[in-house]
Amino acid sequence: MSIQVNKVAKVYGQQRALNGVSFDIPGSDVVGFLGPNGAGKSTMMKIITCYIPPTEGSVHVCGLDVMKNSIEVRRQIGYLPEHNPLYLDMYVKEYLSFIGEIYKIPNLKKRVAEMIEQVGLGPESHKKIEALSKGYRQRVGLAQAMIHNPKVLILDEPTSGLDPNQLVEIRALIKEIGREKTVMLSTHIMQEVEAICNRTIIINKGNIVADKPTSELRSSIQSGGYELQVEFSGVISRSSLLKIKGVADAQEDGKNMWIISTNTSEDIRKDVAEMALQQQIAVLTMSKKEQRLEDIFKELTGAKEISTAE
Ligand code: ADP
Repeated sequence: MSIQVNKVAKVYGQQRALNGVSFDIPGSDVVGFLGPNGAGKSTMMKIITCYIPPTEGSVHVCGLDVMKNSIEVRRQIGYLPEHNPLYLDMYVKEYLSFIGEIYKIPNLKKRVAEMIEQVGLGPESHKKIEALSKGYRQRVGLAQAMIHNPKVLILDEPTSGLDPNQLVEIRALIKEIGREKTVMLSTHIMQEVEAICNRTIIINKGNIVADKPTSELRSSIQSGGYELQVEFSGVISRSSLLKIKGVADAQEDGKNMWIISTNTSEDIRKDVAEMALQQQIAVLTMSKKEQRLEDIFKELTGAKEISTAE
């Protein structure tokens, strides 16, 4: 078991930030921890990385209790906090060597060179950190988090503030790292979990509201029905669409264009095409509209704060 979280609660004064959270992440994987601001993501990550203790419950990392074995747990974990605290006036190699010395890594020069290669810092490695773009600073943050070759990586909002090109590159890098390690990353961006996470844990107001393979998140929450967008070659009446078995509603959406809502998960496309054919009308286009993850989140939490902006 890489990460085992069992009924964890965290109370800050009057504020209950986590409310009995449990989940297991057994092996190498990329797991997204998704929720709006203030949901409790950073708090959970700080507990896993031994920065703060839970008020109730227990956390084990690679079988070790974070409260009882914090030094050993820190050796197994690499952590990239939300505000990546780098020493800006150090050179990239100097900084990574400094971190490596703290971990007493043997053959440190070789290890620093490996990390620079792995995170794609080569062309920038001779620079001072203050001279690097935000994307390259994140790479330095990832390199420092991985220099001691931890089994588990905890990344708090690792792509926040990156421009679109940097986003794509850092996401690809995290996905690659997840082949060998357990990566847990927090985000408030839906597209992020879709882009890189195999599994998504959704948290809201300190409670877990969903924990599923990202690919299943949509279908499992859909309330049976779906929407079809259809363009006909001629006029079709609403009443003839409503007669089709499984159609709950039909709304005109432009000239001879219809949005058909179903109350079944069964495929009704053939029936729509046959009905049109009987009226000597052709179907020009027909597409199934996927329910967006944003909508699923609202359905689960009633929340509106989730971000879709990148
Ligand atoms: P997220 O990372 O999902 O944005 P946080 O874990 O940072 O959420 O915060 C969860 C809740 O706990 C928020 O309401 C936040 O204001 C509160 N909180 C976080 N840290 C502290 C703290 N040190 N003292 C008091 N309240 C805190």
